[in-house]
Amino acid sequence: MSAQAPAAPSIPGRAPGAPQIPALPPLPPLPALPQFSAVPQAPTVPQAATVPLCKNCKSRPAYVDRSTVPFSTHDFCGRTCANTYIVSGKTV
Ligand SMILES: [Zn+2]
Repeated sequence: MSAQAPAAPSIPGRAPGAPQIPALPPLPPLPALPQFSAVPQAPTVPQAATVPLCKNCKSRPAYVDRSTVPFSTHDFCGRTCANTYIVSGKTV
C-alpha cells in the first residue's frame, strides 16, 4: 500500500509579478447645473372678483356685465332666473 499524496489542485491564476493595471484616474466632477431654487410657481390666475351667487338658483354665480365700468353685478345668473325669482314673488 502506498499512500499517494493527493495532487494539489492547480489553480490557474495570475502569475506573481504580473503587471498591474493602473487605476483609472478619478472622473472629473460634473459641471454644476444651474440650481432651481424652487418649483416654478404657477402663474397667478387673476381671479374674478367675488361674484355673489344667483339669488334664485343659488348654484351659479350671478351674471356680471363686464361691458360696463365698473362691472355691473346682477342678482341672477341669467334672465331666466331673474324672471323666475320675480314671478315667484320673492322679495329681497
Ligand atoms: Zn340662477
